[in-house]
Amino acid sequence: MIVMKFGGTSVESAEAIERVSKIVGSRSKESPVVVVSAMAKVTDQLVAMGNTAASGDCGEALASLTALRDRHRDTAKALLGEKRAAAISPRLNAHIAELENFLRGLAAVRELTPRGSDYLLSFGELLSSIIVADAFIVRGLNAAWVDSRECLVTDATHTRALPQMSATREKSKKKIGPLLAKKRVPVMGGFIAASVDGVPTTLGRGGSDYSAAIVGAALDADRIEIWTDVEGMMTTDPRLCPGARTIKQISFNEAAELAYFGAKVLHPATLLPAIHQDIPVYVLNSRNIKSTGTEITAQAPRSRDVFRAITAKKGISIVNVVASRGIMVHGFLRSVFEAMDRHEASVDIVAISEVSMSFTMETKRLPDALLKDLEEIADVTCENEQAIICLVGEDIHGKPGIAASVFNTVANAAVNIRMISQGASEINISFVVQESDVPRVVRHLHDYFFPAKARVGASSAKRKTVRAGNSTNGSASKRSQRGTNGRSAGSAKRAAAAAV
Ligand code: ADP
Ligand code: ASP
Ligand code: MG
Repeated sequence: MIVMKFGGTSVESAEAIERVSKIVGSRSKESPVVVVSAMAKVTDQLVAMGNTAASGDCGEALASLTALRDRHRDTAKALLGEKRAAAISPRLNAHIAELENFLRGLAAVRELTPRGSDYLLSFGELLSSIIVADAFIVRGLNAAWVDSRECLVTDATHTRALPQMSATREKSKKKIGPLLAKKRVPVMGGFIAASVDGVPTTLGRGGSDYSAAIVGAALDADRIEIWTDVEGMMTTDPRLCPGARTIKQISFNEAAELAYFGAKVLHPATLLPAIHQDIPVYVLNSRNIKSTGTEITAQAPRSRDVFRAITAKKGISIVNVVASRGIMVHGFLRSVFEAMDRHEASVDIVAISEVSMSFTMETKRLPDALLKDLEEIADVTCENEQAIICLVGEDIHGKPGIAASVFNTVANAAVNIRMISQGASEINISFVVQESDVPRVVRHLHDYFFPAKARVGASSAKRKTVRAGNSTNGSASKRSQRGTNGRSAGSAKRAAAAAV
């Protein structure tokens, strides 16, 4: 069997769902299980509705809910015709009524908790999957809607729950196995799951990809297909750089690194279950039924380019922690790391000296309480609106001159680098710039390493040498910069892998 996941833009309208049913039909002999996201922008709209209601403006939230209901109703009508759409409308209406009650409740209590947020956001995928399943049936596919909350079991970390694989495997096999045996096409919402106690959870924004991989691993799929709005994983985000090219084949390691460092096309945890069971993953374009996209496998043929791809991860904060005057240097780093541990801080890049340390974190995940704790032991400054630029390639390790080429190119773009990391992960070079510099620096780097005509990146990269393994920070103390420990995706992967 195979798992086919369709993202928000792939199910954004009746026409898009029509295309999806053709694509799934073309694979019907391979026993597909279909995972769908909420229709494009719906999850954002649910977030906004929740915030509006929690701020006390129930009227505005309910007006948005009416628009959301109409969009789903109109899409159902266009796909199914008046009569059949009327037949599923009680199911859709029941969910809209639940949403309405919830929004009213939020307006009364004026608080949206993480648990409440998961409940609220689950409706996007519930609504889209019901419509898609029925659209398939009307088009001759023997589809069966499946409630993901009865298949995917997670812990109770609301808003970014982690799967519990053995329970998920058991439940998914029990629910989906018999449907496949009867040649049905199971259709389920991505992103949503339930805790052991049956409370709705979500896998984090963009998590439908992850759902597909979890279901694929649970059912021992032959392959997992991620259908999206671009022709596969590309050498950079095509929205940043129109010259971006599709990567035909890429390794699990490289793809995971790219996803972790901002390639939105894949949720960062997506590949873990696939890596675990060596299931190939394909990223394909739902606007092109013949798409061959990107193949992600344990080992990929070497690339002719120096790097596979360039990513940018925005919304980053740099935290500079400098030991306060008079405080003994001894124990400083231990205290900082202990504070990070207490607050479960997930750090991206670290630069260390004897008396100072700088690290980056996603701004939205940086707890004020961590900063307060650090202020007890050090002088702390925090700079927001930063971005991590990451260049990934499995062949860069041990090749002299690559870092020099990267930083010369950044210099030519007249962009200031705030922190650098190379060494911790052998397959990436990453550095921090201001968010506003991202388009410029990515375009310059892409032009240099992925030139449109002659592929000269590799040869010109050999011209200069640089010592690998350094991690430095322009704003940290210059007295001693001997640490390197740029973080990686590696450790994030390992942590998440442990949960899988
Ligand atoms: P979906 O709704 O199908 O899950 P997403 O919006 O989550 O789609 O991801 C697809 C988008 O990811 C693309 O439209 C593209 O702008 C962005 N993207 C970022 N980096 C890359 C990359 N390296 N390759 C391809 N797409 C990328
Ligand atoms: N609908 C969810 C989101 O927008 C999950 C997904 O699309 O993957 O984050
Ligand atoms: Mg996505």
